[in-house]
Amino acid sequence: MKAVVIEGKKIIKYRDVEDPNIANDEVLINVKYCGICGTDIALYLGEMAYLQTGEQKYPFIPGHEWSGEVVDIGNNIKNFKVGDRVTGDVSIGCGKCGDCREGRFNLCNNRFEVGCYRNKSGGMAEYIKMPERHLYKIPKNVDFMGGAIVEPLATAVHGIKRKIFDLNENILITGGGFIGILAAQVASASKSTTVVLTGRTKEKLDAAVECGIENVVNIKERDLQEYLKNLGILDNINFCVECSGNIDVLKQCIEIVRPGGDISIIGFYESNETNINFDDISLKNLEIHGVLASPNCFKSAISLLEKGLIKYKPLVTEIFELREIDDAIKFILDRKNKSIRVMLKIG
Ligand SMILES: [Zn+2]
Ligand SMILES: [Zn+2]
Repeated sequence: MKAVVIEGKKIIKYRDVEDPNIANDEVLINVKYCGICGTDIALYLGEMAYLQTGEQKYPFIPGHEWSGEVVDIGNNIKNFKVGDRVTGDVSIGCGKCGDCREGRFNLCNNRFEVGCYRNKSGGMAEYIKMPERHLYKIPKNVDFMGGAIVEPLATAVHGIKRKIFDLNENILITGGGFIGILAAQVASASKSTTVVLTGRTKEKLDAAVECGIENVVNIKERDLQEYLKNLGILDNINFCVECSGNIDVLKQCIEIVRPGGDISIIGFYESNETNINFDDISLKNLEIHGVLASPNCFKSAISLLEKGLIKYKPLVTEIFELREIDDAIKFILDRKNKSIRVMLKIG
C-alpha cells in the first residue's frame, strides 16, 4: 500500500510499504481522512518527547486523527463488518492490566499510541489495522471528515470531563486553537454555562465565532479581566480549560479561577520556565487536572457530532491528497500558527 513515512528528522516520504496483516481480534480499515496534528509536526521536526526517550523510532507511519471504512475483519470480530464507517482511539491498552480493566487504558504501561508511541502505524496510509475494542462506528449523518475530528474532539471532551460542573457555572477556555475551539463547543453544549474563549490569532478566533462561540476575546487587543468584569463573571470563573501551550497563560488561569475552582491542562508547554506562585494552588484550594489522550470519551464526542452540536468545517483550513504530504507540511509550517487543521484525503 501507499503510506506517508517519517524516516528521520525532517525526512518524510510518500512511498510503498508492506500491506498490514490483521490478527484474529483486529479490523482492517481503508482510511478516508487523516488530520495533521501538532504531534505529527513535532514528530516530523524530531522534537517529540517519545523520539528523545527512544519509545518511538524511525521509520514510522504517523497520524492518529483518522476515519475510514472497514474492508476486512479477523476471525474473532463480533461487532464490526465490512463496509462499517469507523474511527479509533489513539491509546491502545493491553486490555489485561489493572489500569486497562478500570478504563484507564491511556495509562497502561504496555500501551501503544497510534502513529506516535512504540511504532504502532498511524492513519497517514491507505490502510490501518486496529483492535476491535478500540474502534467506534461513525453515525450516518456524520461524514468521513467529521469522523477524523472525533479523536481531537474526544481529547477536548476528556479535558472538560475532568471536572463535574454545575449547570450554571462559568468556564474560561484559554488557547483559541483547534483543541481550544472544540473544547469551547463541548462546554457550550450545556446551554446554561457561560463559556469564554481566549486566543491571540485573529484567523482562529474568527473561525471560533463561525463555530458559534459567543464570547471570544483576542487578548492581544483586549484586557481579559476587563472583559470578564463586563460579563459580570470576573470573580466567578469555576473552571479553566488551558489549551494554549503558553505557561504564562496557565499562570493567568491560576490567578483568575475562583477559590475552589478547577483547571484542566490539555497539551504540552513550549517552555516550562515559570514564575507561577504554586502556593496559590493550595491557598485557593484548586484542583489541577492533567489530560492525557481521550480514554472513554469517543462515545460522547461521536454523540455531540451526531446531534450537530459541534461545527468543524470552519476549522479545516486546507485539504491535501496523501501524496501531497510535502505540500501539506510546507503549508502548515509557512502559515506558522494561522492554520487550524490541515487534513489529508485518502482512499
Ligand atoms: Zn492529535
Ligand atoms: Zn493495560
